[in-house]
Amino acid sequence: MRPFSINRLTDVNHLSTIDSFDNSRFLAGGTNLVDLMKHQIETPETVVDLSGWESANTIEETDDAYQIGAMVSNTDLANFAYRKDDLSLLSQALLSGATVQLRNRATTGGNLLQRTRCYYFYDTNQPCNKRKPGSGCAAMDGFNRIHAVLGTSEHCIASHPSDMAVAMTALDAKVKTMNPAGNSRHIPVRELYRLPGDTPHIETVLGGDELIVSVDIPKRPRGTQIYRKVRDRSSYAFALVSVACAVSLKDGVIDDISLAFGGVGTMPWHAKSAEDFLRGKTATSHLYEQACDVELSAARGAGSNDFKIPLIKRTAAFVLEQAVGQQMAHPYHQGAIHAR
Ligand SMILES: Cc1cc2nc3c(=O)[nH]c(=O)nc-3n(C[C@H](O)[C@H](O)[C@H](O)COP(=O)(O)OP(=O)(O)OC[C@H]3O[C@@H](n4cnc5c(N)ncnc54)[C@H](O)[C@@H]3O)c2cc1C
Ligand code: SF4
Repeated sequence: MRPFSINRLTDVNHLSTIDSFDNSRFLAGGTNLVDLMKHQIETPETVVDLSGWESANTIEETDDAYQIGAMVSNTDLANFAYRKDDLSLLSQALLSGATVQLRNRATTGGNLLQRTRCYYFYDTNQPCNKRKPGSGCAAMDGFNRIHAVLGTSEHCIASHPSDMAVAMTALDAKVKTMNPAGNSRHIPVRELYRLPGDTPHIETVLGGDELIVSVDIPKRPRGTQIYRKVRDRSSYAFALVSVACAVSLKDGVIDDISLAFGGVGTMPWHAKSAEDFLRGKTATSHLYEQACDVELSAARGAGSNDFKIPLIKRTAAFVLEQAVGQQMAHPYHQGAIHAR
């Protein structure tokens, strides 16, 4: 690890007192950033330590939204969401991620901004456009079993690893940010991430000095929510593919539908084309695979990850069938079917 200086931030207003954000990083739980610093993949000169920022460790509830502080741990958020019918998708996603120890440490802001698990990104002996722009992409012709099939470019095919971000995408959450000038903005999670294009090292629309303060999740009136994650082991493994689904019906017609995919996209994937295809249609089994075909028409495998295309299609169709079936049988059902 290279030497670096530390600034401690205990209040958001303290941002304006920090001299420079050139080559700086915010440090939250550190479960991703510290690993990257040890491998010298990230070499910040200044680290802004958020661990003493207590006001960001709270969850507020209003009539129409939940406001999750950036420093709320994944464990606390999962426990809170578990008790709320309209956040059950979020608790399922969080509880499927990492391990208890990691979730105790990992934060809401840090989870959204964690970096890809592409093996070549972590191996500094390999070319990687995301780590070193212009150096090439070892994954393209390499072992790319965990890589993305949607939103890729010829410069990068890394998948986004977060489970929580997939749930936040389906729930249409918005991040609230603040910069040192005191300017604040709300960014839908669906617009937070950038496709790799020819600049895969630029992953979000955030400025280097822009701090995530909280995440707002709108309340949903009713419906069934499912997060299903397919992985190599039943715990302590990133998603090969995952599906976040919230659905409600009106007289047998799909009324409100939210769908997002994990493990298959270069960013948490909002399956908008599938949603648009399904919304307003009478719910029947054959619709679900058709909806997935629409969404996946642009999907491209790179060899070892070709299997993800039929896998996400079958997983999403299964989840839709299960969620719609629950709503048909119990029209006023609200909350989770906990996937097993
Ligand atoms: C072995 C292992 C298994 C894992 N398995 C899973 C899994 O199955 N599913 C899953 O989703 N995740 C998994 N993770 C990833 C884990 O969830 C992330 O490491 C964690 O969520 C990151 O949160 P953090 O608070 O530790 O972030 P940090 O490591 O502190 O920061 C991560 C990034 O976010 C930035 N950042 C942090 N907070 C803010 C803020 N408020 N504003 C702006 N920028 C900020 C940092 O600068 C850094 O770039 C796993 C990790 C490990 C090590
Ligand atoms: S897929 Fe992206 S992160 Fe992985 S080696 Fe290629 S450029 Fe780097």
